[in-house]
Amino acid sequence: MKTPNRHISNNELSNRDHSNRDILKKAGIKYSRQRNEILSTLRNYRKPLTTEKIYEECKKTVENLSLSTVYRILNTFVENGIAVKTNLDMENRALFELERHEHKHHLLCLGCNSMVQISSCPLHQYEKELQDKMGYHITSHKLEIYGYCPECRKELKDEIVDPLNANRDKEAL
Ligand SMILES: [Zn+2]
Ligand SMILES: [Zn+2]
Repeated sequence: MKTPNRHISNNELSNRDHSNRDILKKAGIKYSRQRNEILSTLRNYRKPLTTEKIYEECKKTVENLSLSTVYRILNTFVENGIAVKTNLDMENRALFELERHEHKHHLLCLGCNSMVQISSCPLHQYEKELQDKMGYHITSHKLEIYGYCPECRKELKDEIVDPLNANRDKEAL
């Protein structure tokens, strides 16, 4: 199926294509069809996406696209300030979103990869204290909080707690 884009019309798409070229140019990244599509996908979604999701979206319009190419391009975007990467865990799972230069923090679910924005920043006062105490001029910080969302907690209750009990029963026999 070759639908150009579900979210925006063809007319908007060509405008968007122009501004994608500008964004890539300013970041010092050479324009390519693949980079253009990945950038469009990031711009279309207001939430962070996994590499797989971005790949699924882009392969609708870009032929011969591979997951590793998408991953490589996303990391180039991050290095050049177009995108922001948030690691989900230590196993290279990550979420990518457009760099919108907003100061924000997230709650991340390790079960379903969902991400919820925390409305306020709890670290401003702490930054001031650190600055006084350590003599640093503090310019920024990163904070992400990991766990399991209410839905995943419900599911995990059955999937994790019960098998553990089952093993314990076996050992007892
Ligand atoms: Zn979840
Ligand atoms: Zn903050």
